[in-house]
Parts: sequence; C-alpha cells; structure tokens
Amino acid sequence: MNKPVLIVGGGPAGLSAAHALAAAGQRVTLVEKVDRLGGAPILSGYAKLVPSHEWARDAIGGMVDRVVGNPLVDVRLGTTIDAFAGDPGRFSARLKSGETIEAGATILATGFTHFDSVNKPEWGFGTYPDVVTTVQVEQMLSSGAGVRCPSDGRAPDRVAILLCVGSRDRQIGREWCSKICCTVSANIAMEIREALPKCNVYIYYMDIRTFGLYEGAYYWESQETHKVKYVKARIAEVTSDGKRLLVKGEDTLVKRPISIPFDMVVHAIGMDPNVDNMTLSAIFDVRLNKYGYVDKGSAYASLGHTSRPGVFVAGAATGPETIDDSIAQGQAAAIAALNLTNGAVREAAE
Ligand SMILES: Cc1cc2nc3c(=O)[nH]c(=O)nc-3n(C[C@H](O)[C@H](O)[C@H](O)COP(=O)(O)OP(=O)(O)OC[C@H]3O[C@@H](n4cnc5c(N)ncnc54)[C@H](O)[C@@H]3O)c2cc1C
Ligand code: SF4
Repeated sequence: MNKPVLIVGGGPAGLSAAHALAAAGQRVTLVEKVDRLGGAPILSGYAKLVPSHEWARDAIGGMVDRVVGNPLVDVRLGTTIDAFAGDPGRFSARLKSGETIEAGATILATGFTHFDSVNKPEWGFGTYPDVVTTVQVEQMLSSGAGVRCPSDGRAPDRVAILLCVGSRDRQIGREWCSKICCTVSANIAMEIREALPKCNVYIYYMDIRTFGLYEGAYYWESQETHKVKYVKARIAEVTSDGKRLLVKGEDTLVKRPISIPFDMVVHAIGMDPNVDNMTLSAIFDVRLNKYGYVDKGSAYASLGHTSRPGVFVAGAATGPETIDDSIAQGQAAAIAALNLTNGAVREAAE
C-alpha cells in the first residue's frame, strides 16, 4: 500500500488537495496548526466571497465538512511539523507532540499572514478606533452586527476605503500587489451601500486592479449601481479633528491637496508571506523567493513543485492568491503528489 500524502495547512488549498487525493483513493494526513480547518476565510470570519457571493462559512465550511467526514483523511489539528527527513516516496515527519508519521509526498498549503496595519502608523490604525481593516469589516458583516464605528457603535455616514495597505509599498518592503483587495474592497463598498443607503463610500486608489471579469461585476457595478466614488490619490496620513477622521493627501488627477472628513476609514490590507515561512523553509528544506513566499519550480512544466523533490506547494503559500486559484493549485499539487506515491508503489512491485 502507498504511504499517505502529508498536507500541511487546512485552508482552501490544503482542503482541495485533501479532497482530490481522497477522491482518488489516496490516504492523507492533514496537519493544521490551529484548532480549526478552513484557513483565512473561516479563521478570520470573512463574509460573502468574491466572486460567488456565497457566505465564506457555507462555501469553505462545505469544503471542511467533506474532508472531515472522509475516512481516508486523518486530520491533526492544533499541531505543526517540527522535523522532516527522507526522500520522495519515503518521507518521515515528526509532529510537535513527538509522534512520527510517514509520507510518500508532502504538500505545503500553509497560506499567508494578513498585513498588520500597525506597520503603516501614519494611516491611523491603532491610534483611532474607527480606523479598521477589511478583515474587521468582513467580521462585522458576517456576524450580522452590521458596519458600525467601533468607538461608539454608530452607523457611519461617510466611509473611506484606502487601497494597497501593505502592498505595492517599497518603503515598507512590500512591493507585490495582493491581487484580490481591489475587488474585495469594491464588494465591501457595495455591501455597505446596500446595508446603509445613506452612507457615502469612497475608495482611494493608486490604480484599480479588478482584474479579468471582475472589472464589470465589481468596478463598474459598484459605481454605476451602488454609487461608490473612486478617488485617485496619494494618501499621506489619517488624523482626526476631534470629531471626525481626516484623510489627507493629494488628489493625483487634479493635483490638489485633500483633507476629507470621514466617520470610518478602512485599510484594504494585503497578503504578507506566512510568518512561519522561515521555519517551514528550514524544516522542509525548501527555498523561499526574494519576498519570503515559498519558491515555485517551473511555472509551466511542473506547477506545484518546490526546490525539494517530493515536496509540493499550493495556494497563497506561493504569493498572493485568490481562493479559486488556491483551490486549483491544491488539485494540481494533489495530482503531482499522487503520481509520486503511485510511482513508489509501482517501483516496489517491480
Ligand atoms: C480581507 C481579505 C478578503 C479576501 N476575500 C477573498 C474573496 O472574497 N475571494 C477570494 O477568492 N479570495 C479572497 N481573499 C484571499 C483568500 O484569503 C486566499 O486566497 C485564501 O485564503 C488562500 O488559501 P490558502 O489555503 O492558500 O491559505 P490560507 O487561507 O492562509 O490557509 C492556510 C492554512 O495553513 C495553516 N498554517 C499556516 N502555517 C502552518 C504551519 N506552519 N503548520 C500547519 N498549518 C499551518 C493556517 O492556520 C491556515 O489554516 C481575501 C483576502 C483578504 C486579505
Ligand atoms: S489588488 Fe488593488 S488594493 Fe490590492 S494591492 Fe493590488 S492594486 Fe492594491
């Protein structure tokens, strides 16, 4: 019998790999460091997802249920791998608890870490309670509490969403685009307008990257149907006049300084490399790229390969990714891992 495939990380990428492998009759050991599966959409309480408009708890919750209920998947929660050795077809991994497990192949699906807005102090997060992140707004929406100013619980009349917080910012060492935050922000803006029709929502941007088909469904839809206003600007700082927050900077279309009052300011935070990546790189002996994400092998011939044969990677562990691409990459890595474990069985039989 072939050895199980070890999957590290139980977010959308890891869940899709586990499901694909189990559907092919392959045993899986799924190791997740927190005590719950689902990855960022579940652990961070996202609301309705882009582009399906399904609640994250239903869409990703369904992925969790089909894996948890599968007898071929051995789920280990609240633990990590602290040692890893061997060759393709014959790996052994030690869990934090001291237990050793065998694996024919491994898939790293360890995802990303949300940018911490305290690293952008001039934009007011941590200083003013009504400066929040997109994750906090997602949580307000998914909890059913509605979008409210944390300082006093009032419904905001004016909301500013600042794009590219912790992305495309060389000053703080993050030059990548986080890919999905323009679209997520347009979606959030529309949700706020639907829930609070009197609330004015402004999106401050450098460029808008509602890529592919999202341009129509989010960028144009948010302006034409929901009257969300877009302002091309360079934001310098977020302060307060004692009553309201002030977004200050330059409107880069008309080249004039701006200082605009708001009740709530939302940081559209980006996707940092997982804070565990240095440790994961050392334990699994895989290379990281210059930004700190897990380095991919060839882009075309070997999707999902890392610098170490037999160790594959999928999803936001490789860089900012959407959920649907993370799921697709999980399935691609599953096929690569399956080839390896089946190949090891064939070799043993010959
Ligand atoms: C505010 C916001 C909203 C978003 N909304 C959308 C949306 O609507 N639609 C969309 O397509 N995308 C959205 N995204 C992107 C989405 O979050 C990612 O595409 C998705 O979470 C990537 O899935 P993943 O499985 O690769 O990683 P993750 O979701 O990060 O899951 C990784 C898992 O691995 C675990 N893990 C990490 N390190 C270890 C370790 N050392 N050992 C064991 N386990 C570990 C983590 O606990 C986690 O469970 C959004 C992103 C942000 C920031
Ligand atoms: S997707 Fe949009 S908000 Fe996110 S980093 Fe790219 S340009 Fe900025």
